[in-house]
Amino acid sequence: MSSCLFCRIAAAEIPAKVIYQDADVVAFEDINPQAPLHCLVIPRRHIATLNDVTPDDAALVGTMLYRAAQIARERGYADGGFRTVFNCNADAGQTVFHIHLHLLAGRRLGWPPG
Ligand code: 5GP
Ligand code: ZN
Repeated sequence: MSSCLFCRIAAAEIPAKVIYQDADVVAFEDINPQAPLHCLVIPRRHIATLNDVTPDDAALVGTMLYRAAQIARERGYADGGFRTVFNCNADAGQTVFHIHLHLLAGRRLGWPPG
């Protein structure tokens, strides 16, 4: 989708600090980090919200979670802890309508979230 910001980042049409990429997913640093490590893991394929995920996407979403955990481990946060978050639609604060998994680590994260 040429109008989608994260499709364009996945296609390297818009620059981002890419941490990891393969045929299915891209991970890059959030432009407005909320923790010492704050990156986003996205599928290359456009999916607008978590509401649009189908059973055929189950492995892809699992890959996103696996990749986030691997990045957390590589950065030394596996034991101390980290958070992964999907925001879905307005009440959760979703602002970019291409699914993305937030990975946050490096500080004590409050619960419940705001
Ligand atoms: P949401 O609120 O939709 O869950 O999260 C969207 C995230 O995308 C926000 O944390 C925001 O800082 C990040 N973001 C928005 N535009 C850009 C951009 O152009 N580049 C990068 N790297 N992150 C972005
Ligand atoms: Zn997209």
